[in-house]
Amino acid sequence: MTVDRRDFLHAAGLVGAAAALGSAALGAREANAAEEEEPAVLNLSSQEGRIPGEALAERVERMAEWGFNGLEPHGGGLPGRVAEIQQALQGSGVSVSAVCAGYSGCLISHEETERRLAVDTLKELLAAAGELRSTGVIVVPAFHGQTELDCQEARTILVDLLQELGAHALQVKSRVLLEPLNRGECYFLRLVADAAAIARDAGSEGVAVMGDFYHMNIEETSDRGAFLSAGPRLHHVHLASRRRVLPGQDERSFVDGFRGLKEVGYRDFLSLECGCDGDPLVEIPKSVAFLRAQWAEA
Ligand code: MG
Repeated sequence: MTVDRRDFLHAAGLVGAAAALGSAALGAREANAAEEEEPAVLNLSSQEGRIPGEALAERVERMAEWGFNGLEPHGGGLPGRVAEIQQALQGSGVSVSAVCAGYSGCLISHEETERRLAVDTLKELLAAAGELRSTGVIVVPAFHGQTELDCQEARTILVDLLQELGAHALQVKSRVLLEPLNRGECYFLRLVADAAAIARDAGSEGVAVMGDFYHMNIEETSDRGAFLSAGPRLHHVHLASRRRVLPGQDERSFVDGFRGLKEVGYRDFLSLECGCDGDPLVEIPKSVAFLRAQWAEA
């Protein structure tokens, strides 16, 4: 015997509930339409050292000419460079993307003193990153050899410290950006989804995640899936090919990942962190054209 679905809903007294579900679905569609008004954007950035040039202003001028609008400085000595960077960027159309590490210690060290050193130096760096209106400071919990803790102990300690760091980051208008690496460089934190789960558990808007196409090529089963897992917690991306040279210099495709970025409405930066085969003055503009074509295809 078949049961008409409407009769069944009536019989179960669920018509009102079904109508409520219908309007909730409509609400979701309206919300999606609102999101679609702010489509994802390909904001290209580069690590400072990747761009040829002597003075920072010379590098920034070159970047603007090539179509970059983001600069990723290294965090080492950054608190003393805020004025220099602000001056070099003024009127250039280029702004600071993320700040790449540059703190001391290790957040998940087995030594308490090393963990405290990491928290204290990261706080200084977050303040400088906030002054520069960057998207955040890139943080790797531990490279190989930096910790003797097992993954369970490390995760508990990390989530605890991230609550303190996240609160500080919000105060200084910055973020911690957790970066998953590949197994050749670390054991703890290798998947973007894992970083997002840690950020969720830290429970602070001051803790976010990033994805690096080089590491993702080794660890992730799907670039798109990784970015979808991170969703709104994703606030930075590193660009490098399979051999960790410029995008376009080997067979690594970025299309699947770019589809994911479009689906989550990504509007932060994608930043070169890679070597270069050949003359960077010739090869970087070619890589920019390649990335724009891959973005268009996604
Ligand atoms: Mg990276």
